[in-house]
Amino acid sequence: MTATHLVWFRNDLRTHDNAALSHACSLAQNGDRVLAVFLWTPEQWDQHDYGTPRRFAWVDALKTLEHRLAALGIEFSLLESSDWQHGVDDLMALAKAVNARSLSLHREFGWDEVQRDQYALACAQNAGIDRHVFEDRVTWDPSQILTGQGEMYRVVTPYKKAWLRQLADVSLSTPLPEPKAIGPAIQTRVHYPKVQSLAQVELPLNETAALIQLDRFIDLTVTDYQTQRDFPSVDGTSKLSAALANGAVSLRQCFSAVLQHPKRDHPGLQTWLSELIWREFYHYLLYWRPELAKHQPFYSRWDAFPWRNDKARLDAWQNGQTGVPIVDAGMRQLAHTGWMHNRVRMIVAMYLVKILQVDWRLGERWFARSLLDIDFASNNGGWQWCAATGVDAAPYFRIFNPVTQSQRFDPEGNYIRRWLPELSALDNRQIHSPDAVPGYSKPLIDYQQARAETLALFKAL
Ligand SMILES: Cc1cc2nc3c(=O)[nH]c(=O)nc-3n(C[C@H](O)[C@H](O)[C@H](O)COP(=O)(O)OP(=O)(O)OC[C@H]3O[C@@H](n4cnc5c(N)ncnc54)[C@H](O)[C@@H]3O)c2cc1C
Repeated sequence: MTATHLVWFRNDLRTHDNAALSHACSLAQNGDRVLAVFLWTPEQWDQHDYGTPRRFAWVDALKTLEHRLAALGIEFSLLESSDWQHGVDDLMALAKAVNARSLSLHREFGWDEVQRDQYALACAQNAGIDRHVFEDRVTWDPSQILTGQGEMYRVVTPYKKAWLRQLADVSLSTPLPEPKAIGPAIQTRVHYPKVQSLAQVELPLNETAALIQLDRFIDLTVTDYQTQRDFPSVDGTSKLSAALANGAVSLRQCFSAVLQHPKRDHPGLQTWLSELIWREFYHYLLYWRPELAKHQPFYSRWDAFPWRNDKARLDAWQNGQTGVPIVDAGMRQLAHTGWMHNRVRMIVAMYLVKILQVDWRLGERWFARSLLDIDFASNNGGWQWCAATGVDAAPYFRIFNPVTQSQRFDPEGNYIRRWLPELSALDNRQIHSPDAVPGYSKPLIDYQQARAETLALFKAL
């Protein structure tokens, strides 16, 4: 009986620069077959608060993956089960049925992910299946990036220096090409669960779209990135976050695009590199502190903060009805498109935590349910940064004034007008902080008073 080499896809939904896939194909050169598998586990994702947008992004990427694999002569199977425990059991049953000789996969971080993989690899070992595990979520093995005292980094700047030293010492390997076909192209017809779409999807979600977007961004936009990235009405960022989250594009492909660029020292490219390193830093933290996935703050400085878990405040924030235009515009962009500009994410998050005094974990959960690009490590890092509970976070007394931020980063109100058409007739001065406008909410609370109260509460701790 022909042997089968299994590739277990997770958040690496691409055929280029995919070490696990390339490895399985190299093992199948003697006529063995390669079978790609994805576990569809809705109850598991409910536990992780992954909402419809994230599932929509997976389906989009999986459909493209299925076609690309079929062209390489590789079958693809979507295994539906409730959670990872059952999913792994189903995967092992399939492995037995197809006479699997090897299992290739990429390592993932996070509490449940680590448990899942330990269980799966132990089951595979018991079944006599060879196991091949590769790094993909980060560029360098986190256990190798340590301070002079042999400890983990807790501040991004020295981490970035260590990251760059590693780059100078080891140098980044070039992205792997798509593997050669292992046989003639095949026909496949996988059934995908129905997932509701968003009103507008503005991000590339699958490999084909992501590679085009990466090229476009590097050719046209990246050299203005350092000056444009903070303005939400400008299309000045890569919009690759969802593709990086589900692995339709790889980190190495992004880093290589910068490092091989003739202007690699240009401030635009260097700033983009730094943002990618932030992403990497948050994954590094999750490696070292997997309990972050259990809703624990990195530092428990503010455990005693009397969060107001006030449903009316949370509802107004979620629905874009706080009466603060830049906050409401951001929340409506999120609801319509499953994405929000980074500057606006910081503004809305700080507003929820430090002005409405709602527990940051409720905001984190809402983002997880609403974002196409939800990535546990980056989301948790972003929220803990805003809440001052995280590593290298904004100090508790730094509170963004949403109106000042709005005047500075959306000076002509174009972003606000796009998402709040009821304010479109206001002039550029009024639009950031309007007086009563029919059809638009009045401010939920008084900013200055709430700010003073929050600072007093923090100080008291
Ligand atoms: C409260 C909060 C929650 C966030 N949640 C997420 C999330 O769930 N998923 C997510 O990918 N990003 C998250 N971010 C980071 C950032 O907002 C998005 O990565 C960025 O807006 C995506 O747009 P882009 O792809 O155009 O980014 P670009 O500006 O083009 O940056 C390129 C890539 O670098 C990474 N990146 C950029 N900025 C950051 C950052 N501050 N932290 C971590 N990675 C970064 C992303 O992968 C991004 O795609 C969050 C930020 C905050 C403040």
